[in-house]
Amino acid sequence: RLRLQDVSKRFGGHRAVDAVTLDLEPGEFFCLLGPSGCGKSTLLRMIAGFEAPTAGRICLGEQDLTGLPPHRRPVNMMFQSYALFPHMSVAANIGYGLKGLGRDAATTRVADLLRLVRLDGFGGRRPDTLSGGQRQRVALARALAREPKVLLLDEPLGALDRGLREETQGELRSVQRRLGTAFVVVTHDPEEAMMLADRIGVMEAGRLVQVGPPAELYRRPASRFVAGLLGDVN
Ligand code: ATP
Ligand code: MG
Repeated sequence: RLRLQDVSKRFGGHRAVDAVTLDLEPGEFFCLLGPSGCGKSTLLRMIAGFEAPTAGRICLGEQDLTGLPPHRRPVNMMFQSYALFPHMSVAANIGYGLKGLGRDAATTRVADLLRLVRLDGFGGRRPDTLSGGQRQRVALARALAREPKVLLLDEPLGALDRGLREETQGELRSVQRRLGTAFVVVTHDPEEAMMLADRIGVMEAGRLVQVGPPAELYRRPASRFVAGLLGDVN
């Protein structure tokens, strides 16, 4: 399991992330919820290894990840912008990180992933010929290609319109269930978190102020802030 111990990040005098401690269960769908600027992306970037904590430790099982570069961590991150390579096919985008695997194994893995995100037959297409939802699924497949233990998703549905967003929420959840990979999904949409998460972590000004299953946060919010955040959801 992934364990954050007192993880903090300062930018100058500003505490973007303030002493966050969290145990992530294997295979759980965890939503990180909170207003703009509360430190969600910064926390994700530290788990992924793109940003070094000012204090604290990040471990997976017995392994201390804190000093490891991103590509050596059993963790991967999917970015809000998807960042697909426009000049490469869908299949090449998904297989990009699989060079060490050998061609046959990589081809099989890519085919499996295309099926997983329901894009069989799209492997030869360029990203710019796909819809927003299809591009989102390519990015998801690419992020899963190296079979991370934990996948970090920063506002994965932010760029989608409402209808597509709802459809993709269900899809994300079903992919996660089938693989058994732990997902940490950043959102500032309480409704989305309530619907998708096994557990929700609420952040306020750099601090993780409450963690628990959606129903528990709804019924027993630890503060007015949490109550206010979840109060409009039914
Ligand atoms: P949003 O929902 O808008 O994406 P967020 O919760 O992801 O917000 P972060 O991007 O983690 O917020 O930023 C947290 C705080 O840290 C903000 O006040 C931000 O201005 C600050 N911050 C983030 N990155 C840097 C940086 N590289 N240098 C200085 N300050 C930063
Ligand atoms: Mg952010």
